[in-house]
Amino acid sequence: MKNTRQRAAILRVLDESAEPLSAEEVYSRLRAEEPSMALSTVYRNLERFSAENLLHRDTFGDGVVRYSPARHHGHYLICTGCDARVRIDGCPLSALEEGLARDTGFAIESHSLTIYGKCPRCAAKEQGNREKKAAGKRQEEEHG
Ligand SMILES: [Zn+2]
Ligand SMILES: [Zn+2]
Repeated sequence: MKNTRQRAAILRVLDESAEPLSAEEVYSRLRAEEPSMALSTVYRNLERFSAENLLHRDTFGDGVVRYSPARHHGHYLICTGCDARVRIDGCPLSALEEGLARDTGFAIESHSLTIYGKCPRCAAKEQGNREKKAAGKRQEEEHG
């Protein structure tokens, strides 16, 4: 009984989250309502759910495994500066998959697509740093 409740709680946390969560993130969000749940239990259930195809398992650039509900299929833009994640709703690859299945005879099971870059804030910061550096260099040249 307790296990069923814990399993439901784990799935609910992921369902309510707009972005994929790591086991630690799920664990910390569940602490208040399931204080007796161990991190290892969270891990075990997440792995089981992904084996049952209830969850989608993603490893992004930082190597951390994150989970999201399988029926929330979508993709992410990830900032390499601050790790901000923006979900791309829908899947731009479903049409491609259909064509590939037709052309190659593959029974396609899944795919992954993650786009990396700098979010507007990090891009602006980087631009600012570049300008500062350029200004410093100009000053050196003027003085030297
Ligand atoms: Zn950023
Ligand atoms: Zn997709």
